[in-house]
Amino acid sequence: MSADVLLLARAADYAARQHIAQRRKGERAEPYINHLTEVAALLAEATGGTDATLLAGGLLHDTLEDTDSTYEDLAERFGPEVAALVAEVTDDKSLPKDERKRLQIEKTAGKSRRAKLLKIADKTSNLRSMVNSPPAGWTEARLRDYVVWAEQVVRSCRGLNAALESAFDAAYADAKRHLG
Ligand code: ZN
Repeated sequence: MSADVLLLARAADYAARQHIAQRRKGERAEPYINHLTEVAALLAEATGGTDATLLAGGLLHDTLEDTDSTYEDLAERFGPEVAALVAEVTDDKSLPKDERKRLQIEKTAGKSRRAKLLKIADKTSNLRSMVNSPPAGWTEARLRDYVVWAEQVVRSCRGLNAALESAFDAAYADAKRHLG
């Protein structure tokens, strides 16, 4: 078995275990792993499956933010490149939510190519969820704010991958249509 296949199987297994008790915020409360596999699949399609580090990062991208994983855990299991990529797309949780959102708009442009691709895939998955299973209790205005913000983040990292950007654009158009 190739090292890439081994890495991805381990990353998928680890991500599923780490997020085992979590559900998406949507009314359908999908298992969290669905978001992670969707992000990895978007990245795989957009890059022709050529970058296992990127796909592992996709599977693991929320472990530092939302589970008890540490950078050291990730580096030990998946190597320093994967750990650094996940760290790059992780918000500083000590900051207030609005500040974290503002920083994503401001800082994403300065990040690595992989981190930017991961952000676009993440926002694409999130916008699809807004349409297919909107978060319970969110007002129309809050949904609309999220969609506007997601587009601002993605705008700062365009020009790297046309296929991924068009997947985002389709999800964005769909979200805007649904929200009127
Ligand atoms: Zn995510």
